[in-house]
Amino acid sequence: MMEENEKTNVMEPEMAAELPLLLFVSRSFRFRCLVDAREEILERECIHPRKFDALLQQLQEEERTKAILLREFERLDNPIPVDELADAFKSLDMNASEIVTLTYQLGMEGFLSTSFEGDSDVPLFKHYTSDPRAIEPAYKPVNVITDGSACSGCGMCETVCPVGCVSVNDGRVSIDMDTCIRCGLCFTACPRSFLPKKALEWSTTGNHFTRNEIKIGHVLEAWSAKSLQEDVDAVKQDGGVTSTLLIHALDSGRVTSAIGAGTREGEPWNPVPVIMKTRRQVLEAAGTKYVNTPSLKLLSSLSAEPGIAIVGTPCMMQALWKGEKYPTHLLDLSNVKYKLGIFCMESFTYQGIKHLAEKILGTSLNDIRKMDINKGKFFMYPRDGGAFTAGMKDVGKLARLGCHCCYDLTSESADISIGSIGSKPGWNTVLIRNENGKELFDSAVAAGLLEKKPIPDVIPGLPLLKKLSFRKKRQYERTERKRDADNAFHPLYDLRLWPKPVKKKKVDT
Ligand code: SF4
Ligand code: SF4
Ligand code: SF4
Repeated sequence: MMEENEKTNVMEPEMAAELPLLLFVSRSFRFRCLVDAREEILERECIHPRKFDALLQQLQEEERTKAILLREFERLDNPIPVDELADAFKSLDMNASEIVTLTYQLGMEGFLSTSFEGDSDVPLFKHYTSDPRAIEPAYKPVNVITDGSACSGCGMCETVCPVGCVSVNDGRVSIDMDTCIRCGLCFTACPRSFLPKKALEWSTTGNHFTRNEIKIGHVLEAWSAKSLQEDVDAVKQDGGVTSTLLIHALDSGRVTSAIGAGTREGEPWNPVPVIMKTRRQVLEAAGTKYVNTPSLKLLSSLSAEPGIAIVGTPCMMQALWKGEKYPTHLLDLSNVKYKLGIFCMESFTYQGIKHLAEKILGTSLNDIRKMDINKGKFFMYPRDGGAFTAGMKDVGKLARLGCHCCYDLTSESADISIGSIGSKPGWNTVLIRNENGKELFDSAVAAGLLEKKPIPDVIPGLPLLKKLSFRKKRQYERTERKRDADNAFHPLYDLRLWPKPVKKKKVDT
């Protein structure tokens, strides 16, 4: 009898180790919130019950992994620098990239505190608490981003909301707060909430960190290139590389659909997100638009497609990068085969562009066939010839407020980045970021669709691109510091400016 009691009362060591992990999961805000709102979510019929339960399962596993990592931090006496994490935790079944991104998330959520030594920009992390009940949840609906004038208008929040209460239209995000369940999934997905900028500045191979090129991000190869396709030539903005790569990806069966910005009936300079499946549709959408479109809101409608390509601004590329590293599990991004990022200094509201045309340049948008930024000036080209110009200083004032929160000019998180800066008129500068991008570009060149020149042979080439890109980063840092000093909202990019963990006044039981 005695023996039997002992058996029932004494916990097996494995179970004793598992219990704190299970407690962490069950108390985690992200998991609890969705479990509590299960009925409400399913009633809205935005998500199939089976998919929702799979989401909960994935979230449970993710929170458990975070709890395991947190346990390792708890065992350390001293703060640990981010680039030593992989070595310190090599016994865990995680690669360096996973360890770093989850560490940032634990820091953002308040489970770890962060510090810096002297002037070093390498963050150090230290265990703060392992009890989710002890800290205020970091996840909020994205109206904190829009109220804080930091929204880039990418559209990602609309696509991930489990109750369909967010819409992004004409550069504005609206949330039906009566329907919102405050789950914060939109906050997780938003590129303007938190983004481990330092993690983006490193490439990880296995457990090794390599610091990327600081001004324009990681570049495998750089080229100046132009399309050799006559129909692309007729509609292209500069070199026509983006349209050519899209057409090639579709024609070769690499993808079945592409997402980008198309023209709106009756308002050609007020773009709308479009799905392109044919050469004709790609050609119709060709050309740079200076008004941002929430293209990522179309992602959920393409979830059944086997392969898609996305053309977008650097903020959209960041949202996609974030969706891979911090998945909401509502959106499967595994069918995103190619991320084609365009260079972007800033974008405008449609009202801003209209104001520029009508009030500053004295023309009508209906008469304009092309817009361009070149050598520090904004150009509008009327159909009947000539050009209207305005200095970028005046034009910059019309930029969307959210663009002031942007440090990325060259789409550092894309597979291929494409723009005009650095190349001669009629050509594009092309930055190949990874093997995936290289395969698509090389295959388009081999098929005779593109002509390429090594970028070192081109003037002004990469020095100009690096200069302007670095200038944008510095401008952003000034904005970020100013917003921080004014106690105004700014995205959580720089760990130095992350808020300290907020302890809850009263612990829930
Ligand atoms: S708006 Fe955001 S917080 Fe509200 S339900 Fe949708 S995803 Fe959740
Ligand atoms: S930046 Fe994108 S995800 Fe964030 S609030 Fe704006 S539209 Fe939504
Ligand atoms: S400046 Fe930044 S936030 Fe604005 S559209 Fe371009 S990439 Fe997006």
